Amino acid sequence: MRFVRKSVLVIGSLNFDLVVHAERIPLAGETVRGSGYDSLLGGKGANQAIAAARLGAQVRMAGRVGSDSYGGALLDGLDEAAVDVAGVQVSDGPSGLAVITHSSDGQNAIVVQPGANGLVTAADIRALEFAEVGVVLLQLEIPMDAVVAAAQEAHKAGLAVILDPAPVAALPEELLRAVTWLTPNETEAAQLVAGSMEPQQTAERLLAIGCRNVALKLGERGAFLMGADCEPTLVPAFAVKAVDTTAAGDCFNGAFAVRLLAGDSPQAAARYANAAAAISVTRLGAQVSMPSRDEVEALSG
Ligand code: ADP
Repeated sequence: MRFVRKSVLVIGSLNFDLVVHAERIPLAGETVRGSGYDSLLGGKGANQAIAAARLGAQVRMAGRVGSDSYGGALLDGLDEAAVDVAGVQVSDGPSGLAVITHSSDGQNAIVVQPGANGLVTAADIRALEFAEVGVVLLQLEIPMDAVVAAAQEAHKAGLAVILDPAPVAALPEELLRAVTWLTPNETEAAQLVAGSMEPQQTAERLLAIGCRNVALKLGERGAFLMGADCEPTLVPAFAVKAVDTTAAGDCFNGAFAVRLLAGDSPQAAARYANAAAAISVTRLGAQVSMPSRDEVEALSG
């Protein structure tokens, strides 16, 4: 019998982030002098793919970049992290681009134009091969019909589907039915259940709208799990000095997927994901802040 190592398939966005640093965010019509800028590879999909790959998983990415130089940089970044990009198509036109003004008091003003991410179709998804996949990671930075098709195809193939409902949007019933784990942060969860409440009550409400399990990401408190495959459990965060929480949620999702795929219980996978995300918040940036397996094992024991 041939041993086939199952892979993590991430279907989602790739964005180039142009971060300009300034004393303050300009008012409409105003120009302020910047003090420097960073060019960063981002997009929730690509971030989750890099997080999973750094932890030693075999990872495939599907989505679209544009025909501009940003698209090439995004593909190179994934390639360097050993993510298989055969499923990323190059469309004529611009890549996803986020232009971020970052002020010295820590505020951000962001314009995101989806570019090629907005061109991902349900047909793209149906053309993908799911045979050697073990778990599928989704977010909401590509069109909703493509996300629904991805969840349904994966569910039909008997795969675990982890959906990060970010940026938050109304979730169609047919999507929720195909999702194994819904992983909102507190802000997204409050919007999905129209109110801010205790984690267990939020989780109960989310389960009542149709998903199988919920992993609520609670920032420095960790994560709360509940659902058909998991008793209600608060999995505490690791205490660290947070410097930049950009992409902490993406790191959590990538790590959670890797450990579920390896056969961990949901609680053990969330503990590991908390450790990975805790390390990521001690560093600046998104993809560059994702930790290696050795680093996570050193923290989580
Ligand atoms: P998001 O990044 O999507 O807004 P959270 O802020 O909830 O989501 O962070 C995701 C995960 O990152 C948390 O569940 C936790 O594991 C970890 N995390 C975030 N902030 C901290 C922190 N200050 N200390 C330790 N872990 C953190």
